Amino acid sequence: MSRFSFTKVIAMTLVVAESLYLLMALKRLALLEDTYHTLTLHQNEQNQKTITLPPLYVITPTYRRNTQLADMTRLSQTLMHVPNLHWIVVEDAEKKSDVVRELLERSGLPFTHLCATAPEEYKRDKMMGRGVFNRREGLRWLRENGKEGVLYFADDDNSYDLRLFEQIRTTKKASVFPVGMILSLGISSPIIRDGKVVGFHDAFQAGRKFAVDMAGFAVNVRVLHASPQATIPIRVSYLEDGFLRQLRLELEDLEPLASGCTEVLVWHTKTYKPATPNLQHVEHAYLDTNLVELYRNVLR
Ligand code: UDP
Ligand code: MN
Repeated sequence: MSRFSFTKVIAMTLVVAESLYLLMALKRLALLEDTYHTLTLHQNEQNQKTITLPPLYVITPTYRRNTQLADMTRLSQTLMHVPNLHWIVVEDAEKKSDVVRELLERSGLPFTHLCATAPEEYKRDKMMGRGVFNRREGLRWLRENGKEGVLYFADDDNSYDLRLFEQIRTTKKASVFPVGMILSLGISSPIIRDGKVVGFHDAFQAGRKFAVDMAGFAVNVRVLHASPQATIPIRVSYLEDGFLRQLRLELEDLEPLASGCTEVLVWHTKTYKPATPNLQHVEHAYLDTNLVELYRNVLR
């Protein structure tokens, strides 16, 4: 082979190799474009879904105590997974706290931070329920600001399965579902026969038409507007029953969720009460360490 034709063969091989490489690159690019297209479509679908979901208004009454930040952190980080949710947190206090405000801001959730507490004359009343006046304040805000959507009362210390929030979103009037870890049966549930609520399996009947826990029902906001005076009554153990009665609901209005009330998607957990940290427990020799600031932060 002459020197000339040898160079020619090398050049031709290079051209062929380069063409092949280019072809492959083009194919890869086309593939990438396809994937990108599918992804964008999917993303648009997701966004569309989020926008068209009716809003979920979650009212949480809360109060200052050793376990508050632990409970509220867990709840906020559950709610962070729920789309189109507005969290209404109402402190049982004269004044809103920085601790709760900071937690709400950290969550990135759309929220409303309020406070309300019982008037003096009720403060020592043993027959008064917990979190009455702050829940009422949450209702007041919702009536003023929410037109449509669904209301759910989420106590700060319960445990929630995310599927619960998906299911209550389509509540037409009021939906009901079992609550786990309720005294003294260990569970509280609507009783369903042929797809309809026929009663309540709950240890505390005591003349209640709706023997449910606060965590065991959700209500459409339109139902709330239809009875503008309906509120949470004061008498302990009758908060849920009184509220649902005042909303003029009947058993046949109740929509059973959680697979026909055969599953538990919310638990009435209670947080163990630990000792209150006290700076006096820190030995004198460590007063120039992190412990001082740690105690100060915990006791805020
Ligand atoms: N709560 C409140 N003020 C109080 C006591 C309780 O706002 O003085 C709130 C509390 O943070 C929770 C709900 O009301 O979200 C129910 O209270 P708790 O969990 O103590 O009651 P239980 O579950 O034992 O019925
Ligand atoms: Mn509780």
